[in-house]
Amino acid sequence: MTTPQQQWPIFDGHNDTLLRLYKPMEGDPPRSFFQRSSYGHIDFPRAKDGGFGGGFFAVYVPPHPSTVKGPPGYNMIVTETGYEIPSFDEVEYEYALDFAMGMVAQLFQWETESRGQLQVVKNAAELNRCLRKGIMAAVLHFEGAEMIDPDFHSLEVFYKTGLRSLGPVWSRSNKFAHGVPFKFPHSPDTGPGLTELGQELIKACNQLGIMVDLAHMNQKGFWDVAELTNAPLVVTHSAAHMLCPSTRNLTNEQIDAIGQTKGVIGINFNVRDLRADGKTELDTPLLETVRHINYLVRRIGIDHVAFGSDFDGTNVSNELGDVAGLPKLIDLLEEEGYDKVSLRKLTHRNWVRVLKQTWKG
Ligand SMILES: [Zn+2]
Repeated sequence: MTTPQQQWPIFDGHNDTLLRLYKPMEGDPPRSFFQRSSYGHIDFPRAKDGGFGGGFFAVYVPPHPSTVKGPPGYNMIVTETGYEIPSFDEVEYEYALDFAMGMVAQLFQWETESRGQLQVVKNAAELNRCLRKGIMAAVLHFEGAEMIDPDFHSLEVFYKTGLRSLGPVWSRSNKFAHGVPFKFPHSPDTGPGLTELGQELIKACNQLGIMVDLAHMNQKGFWDVAELTNAPLVVTHSAAHMLCPSTRNLTNEQIDAIGQTKGVIGINFNVRDLRADGKTELDTPLLETVRHINYLVRRIGIDHVAFGSDFDGTNVSNELGDVAGLPKLIDLLEEEGYDKVSLRKLTHRNWVRVLKQTWKG
């Protein structure tokens, strides 16, 4: 019998596991990445059970504690038709740099502790080798570029350390761009696009071969990047606005542009961004995820769709549960008629292709 890992390692577009272990949520017991737990979505043993071959490990800097008005997530305002979350204060460079350093160090500590079972991959050859050998492949990703200085010195240093993917913004503003505030129902057109410095950042990423992630970017910013970049357009964790009109989701025009540049969309497993009513209902059927995958595949083709779970950063359906539940999603996709070639593309080949094209060396 082959395990899902051997059949098709799942390489995933986004997780917040570094944050969940670096700053545990209230009620989380102290735990190690290598110890099986029932808290959070990803740890090493559960990842193995689920056939998780690796993915983008996000470094995300939460709002500064002094600016947080209540427990995270509790500030959502329910409106007559959906929800909105009030905008977040910008975070300072020094705080962001300090926080990011700690999280990057944690990832490298995991690499050491894993004794060869987890590798921070820096090029396509390393990524391919890890997926083939069943070594967990971690791509170092920054979600929001607040730790990058205007001269890009820290970008240069983080690149040398292993940074290979960067989202200029999370859902707040910074010196590079403006993220989408969380709202439903609402268009992703929520404000101005890239700043001048943001344009320079895109060019610097292109030059170094760092993938630019457009998740959390507003619509104007998206098109600004589309005009500037020489790489395929990529959104690591999002879904179709036509099926679920949240600000975090992509319009048909954006989806088409991603297809045309031979880019990739990682499907977010966040129930709030999948359901037509935008509700955070954990009993949402896993089929909602398949509905978005089908929509994108019909629109731009199987080569441009992948997974972008947002594990440890969001609410996924109880049916999926956590990373160990991934084979259930694969089973549903098989029932839906996706053949082995298509499943290989959805589970890892599309990510590998786009990274190979974007990275240098
Ligand atoms: Zn995110």
